[in-house]
Amino acid sequence: MIKGLRFLSTLIELKVNSEKTAGSCVACLDHKAINGLCDGCRDDLPVNRWHCRCCALPLAFHSNTLTCGECLSTPPPFSHTVAPWRYQYPVDGMIGRYKYNGQRKYARPLVAGLAEHLSRHFQSSPELKPDLIVPAPMHRKRRRKRGFNQAEDIAEQLSLTLNVPWSATRIRRIRHTTPQRELGREARLHNLRGMFQINGTVPARIALVDDVVTTGATARMLTAALKDAGAEDVQVWALARTPG
Ligand SMILES: [Zn+2]
Ligand SMILES: [Zn+2]
Repeated sequence: MIKGLRFLSTLIELKVNSEKTAGSCVACLDHKAINGLCDGCRDDLPVNRWHCRCCALPLAFHSNTLTCGECLSTPPPFSHTVAPWRYQYPVDGMIGRYKYNGQRKYARPLVAGLAEHLSRHFQSSPELKPDLIVPAPMHRKRRRKRGFNQAEDIAEQLSLTLNVPWSATRIRRIRHTTPQRELGREARLHNLRGMFQINGTVPARIALVDDVVTTGATARMLTAALKDAGAEDVQVWALARTPG
């Protein structure tokens, strides 16, 4: 009996390990990859170690209690931003392949890393756990063109790992706009006015999820819309933050 159990557990362990190590490292093709990255490439990812405590803008100083100039002059409506990596090589390429070519394996190590980061965060500060995860919405025209909304994809995976419900139907993008990355800062803010619609009520504490936080303008507008609909606290989660 014991022998049988031991045999069974070995089989389960083998299966788990082979699932974990399935595929090579997406960055260097090494065969010893966990969640799509080898140890060396994972160590080389640009960690967003020092950043603005509100919008996670990478800072050159050794501090996470500082607020960047932008958040000081115009405080954002969201409480804080979690973005473990800087949007630099190779993270930019990994997210690009995921988003524009639909190759999910490139995002796997980053989504798993964000989930681990958040799990640790909630172990030490369980009061920060949100009631609902809301992905940044994509207009249906763009969604049709791309085939999927990466923010929904990330939100769904985080929801499973963190055991927090998610909903893609609470907030809708009602206006199709020029992609934000093609615009300057003023034009970006103008581009966003009146483009979101909230359906029904929202709970008090929300985590807004996107793949990358660029200027924070979209997060500001989405947070304002969620707060208008009754949210009290909105935090922002992303895989990466642009360096400015
Ligand atoms: Zn590698
Ligand atoms: Zn900031």
